[in-house]
Amino acid sequence: MVSSPSPSPAWLEELKQLLGADAVLSQPEDLLVYESDSLTLRRHAPQAIVFPRSTEDVQRIVRTCVKHGVPFLPRGAGTGISGGAVAVRGGVLIECARMKRILEIDLENRFAVVEPGVVNLDLTRAVSAAGFHYAPDPSSQSTCTIGGNVAENSGGPHCLKYGATTQHVIGVEVVLPTGDVVRFGGPVIDSPGYDLTGVFVGSEGTMGIATRIWVKLTPLPQIVRTMLASFRTMDASANAVSDIIAAGILPAAMEILDRMTIQVIEASVYRAGYPTDADAVLLVEVDGAAAGIERAVSSIVTILKARAAIAIEVARDEEARQRLWGGRKSAFGVMGRMNTDIYVLDGVVPRSRLPEALRRVTAVGARHGFEVSNVFHAGDGNLHPILTFDGRKAEDRERAMRAGEEILRVCVELGGAITGEHGVGLEKNEFMPWTFDEHDLAVMKSVRDIFNPADLCNPGKVFPTPRCIEAKGTSIPSTPPTRRAPSLATGGRQP
Ligand SMILES: Cc1cc2nc3c(=O)[nH]c(=O)nc-3n(C[C@H](O)[C@H](O)[C@H](O)COP(=O)(O)OP(=O)(O)OC[C@H]3O[C@@H](n4cnc5c(N)ncnc54)[C@H](O)[C@@H]3O)c2cc1C
Repeated sequence: MVSSPSPSPAWLEELKQLLGADAVLSQPEDLLVYESDSLTLRRHAPQAIVFPRSTEDVQRIVRTCVKHGVPFLPRGAGTGISGGAVAVRGGVLIECARMKRILEIDLENRFAVVEPGVVNLDLTRAVSAAGFHYAPDPSSQSTCTIGGNVAENSGGPHCLKYGATTQHVIGVEVVLPTGDVVRFGGPVIDSPGYDLTGVFVGSEGTMGIATRIWVKLTPLPQIVRTMLASFRTMDASANAVSDIIAAGILPAAMEILDRMTIQVIEASVYRAGYPTDADAVLLVEVDGAAAGIERAVSSIVTILKARAAIAIEVARDEEARQRLWGGRKSAFGVMGRMNTDIYVLDGVVPRSRLPEALRRVTAVGARHGFEVSNVFHAGDGNLHPILTFDGRKAEDRERAMRAGEEILRVCVELGGAITGEHGVGLEKNEFMPWTFDEHDLAVMKSVRDIFNPADLCNPGKVFPTPRCIEAKGTSIPSTPPTRRAPSLATGGRQP
């Protein structure tokens, strides 16, 4: 017996009418493509994907979803690694890829206005001939969107010196989860009133959809010098990082890659000439005005030698510099050679605890049968341990999740946190109570609720689910409980 196809829900028909059939996907094979972001451990397909071209389109989509009580969530390029763009409760995925216009470039006042689907590197490409760039540079910058960067408050190698996304966003136009359109900030730095731009940046798609973004443009440095040092031990490379900062030098970037990563890169088409007999390589870049750069390079070389670097290469020209960076930038991608799936973790520890953190991460991995590889923004203490596994096997996925949880525990125990730059999303929401007590979480949740009162916008993210809270014996009140005002003397926390 042939069953007749089930009728489309009314909201889906309404969306097709509003946007046109070519801007709405709902076939099972289309939905599959959007069932995860770059964290393949967590998969949930949406019921439809829509492709708006304007703020008005986004507003109409949101209003339709609200009218029918259907969950919705924004998505950029899907390079997120914390499950942020995954439709945990089904509903409508609002894919911003077609909103990719650079609307304005004002070099005199050093800002640009972009739509959320503009790819990070495309903005730099558009202004580099005039001597500017958009400074936040996630290693995914050739693919990820500025909308996604805003939602995750993304970092990148050069954020050590230049700061993360929040330091570069001066305004946002947002379609709120109620369907209203608001604007926070704009071209003028430090607009009056509460800093709601700052609140929105890093809100992981739970406070609305950014449809227009004002960002700072930063002059390109006069001179850039890049060097690569190799070490016999990971400890020596991590200690060199602390020594460089202690010497009062602020490099633009300091990145460490471990032995396994070096070997996988060198066996791939992204070969960068990293020494394969080293336990770790440290990539250091300094930039700025011509005066002073050579002195900084020579001070760094002295420190690297004092930490017994086996070899030091100072890039002679731009081609050599691009080669050295090429290996680092391909590091997550090449790990795909190791198995069907990779799990890139994102924890942060105080820089001085890096050697201990790495030893403990290796031990956790070994206990769960993983040889962990590490690539990280060492200057920020931001670790990215990588686990590779066969995602087709349930036991492998379980093992990866358990090891991941323990690794993030280590970061918290060492005085760090469960995310340095990839966000909490769906991956780590259940770990939030490790760092925040019920009062902290209740205040955060009440801020989100002002923007997203019906919890239809990207539900199931950032905050622990009730099941997890129950298991951990803690509770999150819907409104913050009254308590004594936190004292500044106790760092803002209750004694
Ligand atoms: C190879 C690789 C390297 C990476 N390197 C770095 C790195 O160096 N530093 C770093 O910080 N991250 C890095 N990442 C993670 C990722 O690229 C960033 O988190 C990036 O900002 C995600 O952008 P996206 O466009 O892919 O967003 P998506 O993954 O599509 O979405 C991410 C989040 O943003 C929300 N969102 C998307 N668009 C909007 C919008 N218009 N309004 C509101 N919310 C929105 C989504 O709902 C979701 O919660 C890397 C990822 C990969 C795969």
